[in-house]
Amino acid sequence: MKASIQQLQVVNSFAQLPSAFYTRVPPQPLTQPRLLHANPDVAQLLGLSKAALTQDDFLQVMSGAQPLPGGDTLAAVYSGHQFGVWAGQLGDGRAHLLGEIVGPAGHWELQLKGSGRTPYSRMGDGRAVLRSSVREYLASEAMVGLGIPTTRALALVVSDDPVYRETVETAAIVARVSPSFVRFGSFEHWSSSPDNLRALLDYVIDHFYPECRIIEDGAPATPNSAALRFVRSVTIKTAQLLANWQTVGFCHGVMNTDNMSILGLTIDYGPYGFMDGFQANHVCNHSDHQGRYAWNAQPSVAHWNLYRLASSLLGLDIDAEALKAELAHFEPAFLQTYQGNLCKKMGLLHWQPDDASLVDDWWALLHGQRADFTLSFRELANAPQHAQAFIDSFNDQAAASAWLDRYMLRLQQEGRPEPERIAQMNSANPLYILRNHLAEAAIQAAAKGDSGEIDTLLKLLRHPYVEQPGYEAYSARAPEWACQLEVSCSS
Ligand code: AMP
Ligand code: MG
Repeated sequence: MKASIQQLQVVNSFAQLPSAFYTRVPPQPLTQPRLLHANPDVAQLLGLSKAALTQDDFLQVMSGAQPLPGGDTLAAVYSGHQFGVWAGQLGDGRAHLLGEIVGPAGHWELQLKGSGRTPYSRMGDGRAVLRSSVREYLASEAMVGLGIPTTRALALVVSDDPVYRETVETAAIVARVSPSFVRFGSFEHWSSSPDNLRALLDYVIDHFYPECRIIEDGAPATPNSAALRFVRSVTIKTAQLLANWQTVGFCHGVMNTDNMSILGLTIDYGPYGFMDGFQANHVCNHSDHQGRYAWNAQPSVAHWNLYRLASSLLGLDIDAEALKAELAHFEPAFLQTYQGNLCKKMGLLHWQPDDASLVDDWWALLHGQRADFTLSFRELANAPQHAQAFIDSFNDQAAASAWLDRYMLRLQQEGRPEPERIAQMNSANPLYILRNHLAEAAIQAAAKGDSGEIDTLLKLLRHPYVEQPGYEAYSARAPEWACQLEVSCSS
C-alpha cells in the first residue's frame, strides 16, 4: 500500500486523445475546505493507505487546490440529448479530470465534481451543493453494496462558500473515480467529425472493449466489425444495468445521453431515487413534468439512448441495418438479467414462461397499494408461513389472497426446502436501501459538520442484505413527511 497521494503511479490516457477532446483548465479551489468524509474502500482500489486520507496533501488535491501529482488536469467536452431533444455541446461544466491512477488491480480516473467553472459551464457556476454531493457520495456506494455497476466516490470535501440555487446553500466537491467517464454523448459530439469519432472509438475499444478486436474466422476484426461488436457490448451492458436498476426500484431521474456511461455504469447521480412506495410510473425528478424518466420508462429510454449512440457512428460508414441488428440485443439481455434477478428475489430456481404474469400481477398488487418496494420483497420470503398477515397487509385482500395461492403453488412445483428458499430470498432482497429521508438526515448532519450519519449509512448499505441489530429505524418504511421530499435537477 502506497503511503500518500504523492507516491501514486499516474498516467493520462484520456489526455493522449487529440486536444479537441478537452480543455486543460485548473479547478477553482474551495475556500477553507474541510474533508467531511473519505472512503477507505476506494482508497484501497487506488493503492492509497488509510493514513494517506488524513494527510494535508490529500485534502489539497481533493479540494482542487493542488493538481494530482503526475496528472494532467482537464475538462472533457461532450454533447447529448436532454429530455429527448438534441442539446448540442455540453461537457464537464463543473468537473475536472485529475488523471488516471494505476491501482493494484486496475486503472482509475480521478475526477472532481463541483470544482469550478470550465469552458463548458455555459450559464452554470461550476459548483455543486453539499446536499447533492452527499447524495452522490452515498448512492454510488449504495450501488456497490447492491452489486450494481457504478462510478465510485473517494472523498467529500465541504466549505462555507455560498452557492445560489432556489435558496443559498454551501459548496462541496465529490472526488469520484471510474475506469472512464466517457458517455454516449462523447460519441454524439463527434458524429460529424469522422477522424475524432474514430479516435474516440479506438481509444474506448482499446482500453475497455479489447475483445472487440479479436480475430473472427481467422482474420482480424475490421474497424467496422469491431465497431459493431462494440455497439453490441455497450447494448448488453446497458440492458443489464437497466434490469438491475428496475429490480431494486432505482430511478435515475435524468437519463439524458450525456448521463449514460459507455461502460454501462450508473453515473451522474442527481435527482435519483430508490422508490419507497411502489408506483410503476413513479417520477423522482420533480422537474420531469412529462414523466419521461419514470421507473417503467427507463428500459425503453435506455434503448432509445443506445439508438442515439449508434446513430452517431453512421458517420464512419457503418451499415445502418447492421447497427440496428446489434441494438436488437437489448431486449434479450435485459430480460435475461431481469428474470434472473426476479427468480432470486421471488425464491424461484428457474424462470418459467408463466412467471412473467406472476411477476406482473405482483407489481400490480404493489402498485395498487403503493406498497413499499424494498420491504415487500423482503417480507415475501415469510408470506407462505404467515399467509394471513400477508393478505391483511393489502387493501385488496381478495387479490392478495389469490396471488399468494398462485405463488405458493409455484413454489410447490419446485419443491425446494423452505429454509433454502428463504435464505436465497434474503440474500437477494435488501433490507436497507438508500431512502430519500435517510439521505436527508445525513445531509442535515453533514451541514453541521457531522459525518456520523454518512458512516452509519455506508456501514449498512455496504451489506444491505444482512440485518444489523440496533438499526431497525434504518430498515423501516419511510415516514409520511418523507413523501413530501422533492428532488430537483438544481444540484
Ligand atoms: P447533468 O444533467 O446535471 O449531469 O448536467 C448537464 C450539463 O450541465 C453538464 O454539461 C454539466 O457539466 C452541466 N452543469 C450542471 N450543473 C452545472 C453547474 N452548476 N455549473 C456548470 N455546469 C453545470
Ligand atoms: Mg451529467
